[in-house]
Amino acid sequence: MDYPRRQAALRHAMQLCRTSGLLVTHLANIRYLCGFTGSAGVLACKREHSPGGGKLAFFTDGRYAEQAREEVQGVRVCIAKGSALAAAMSWLDGVSPIGVEAEHMSLAQREAAAAGKRPRPRLKPLAGFVERLRMVKEEEEVEQIEAAVVLASSLFEGLLPSILPGVAESRVAAELEYAARRAGAQGMSFETILAAGARSSLPHGRASSQPIPNKGFVVLDFGVILSGYCSDMTRTLYLGKPTPRALGMYEAVREAQQAAVQEVRPGVLAGQVDAAARRVLQRSGWGRYFTHSTGHGVGLEIHEPPRLGRGEKEPLQAGMVITVEPGVYVPGEGGVRIEDMVAVTTEGCRVLTPTTKELITL
Ligand code: ZN
Ligand code: ZN
Repeated sequence: MDYPRRQAALRHAMQLCRTSGLLVTHLANIRYLCGFTGSAGVLACKREHSPGGGKLAFFTDGRYAEQAREEVQGVRVCIAKGSALAAAMSWLDGVSPIGVEAEHMSLAQREAAAAGKRPRPRLKPLAGFVERLRMVKEEEEVEQIEAAVVLASSLFEGLLPSILPGVAESRVAAELEYAARRAGAQGMSFETILAAGARSSLPHGRASSQPIPNKGFVVLDFGVILSGYCSDMTRTLYLGKPTPRALGMYEAVREAQQAAVQEVRPGVLAGQVDAAARRVLQRSGWGRYFTHSTGHGVGLEIHEPPRLGRGEKEPLQAGMVITVEPGVYVPGEGGVRIEDMVAVTTEGCRVLTPTTKELITL
């Protein structure tokens, strides 16, 4: 991982938004910028007047002293006696304004950052500041993500014999998660979604205690974390012999998914990929049942920018890794979603998920 490049990009971004100091409190952003994987710490940055100049310091507490010295790269490590945030604020004394991560700092942290300081330090809320730097992945990151995707795909194939009528959804999810850990995953990227029969019309139906019925769709959406990087995939299966209507629904989603993937290349706006999927579903009459956006970025976190939703103006760039996951959900009846992970390349894109998209019937 190229920490010097990331740290230089951070200093450059601070210069562009005219903030003299910065507090990074979100752990995924801290990991991205300096390599620390523990669960408590603050990364602070002070800009210097020379172009692109600035100092970085990482603050944590005694529990992480050894780990921080091992992991943190290119940044001074300070072990705070009290709170890491208070120590970072003392280090930033006199710097104004200090950028903070608006989506991640709690009101309590904001109060603690200013406690006892006269005059009160000026904290400037920044939105998605480090996340923007994370959107375009380094080659090594794409490799890590792909390894997570390939592992998840192999787990999917191994799980198929366990999806049986009468077995609780949560039991099948538990088997998947156990197999994931045994295969070396650090955990799941999010709570496994397994929704069978009429429940498949819930776009985010977490595996429940309901038994799997003997016919209908089964939506399985899950991901694993490997070396810190997430994967995300969805496949929809059918139990029993699919009705013509069910086949029509599946084919429409499959066609929409394919149309959206074909749209992915550098320079295309995120909203155009969404529009490609929506167009196909509208034409086949399922459009009003497609109730979410087409995809999202994935990396150290399961949901990252860019968002592939209606009208999104973010242009795709080579190095982004996104999901393409249109779906159709008919309340009371059932639903279908097909989700792949896709890497944007200089020529177009590469689908990372190797699993078939033919309808699997069990
Ligand atoms: Zn998913
Ligand atoms: Zn997703």
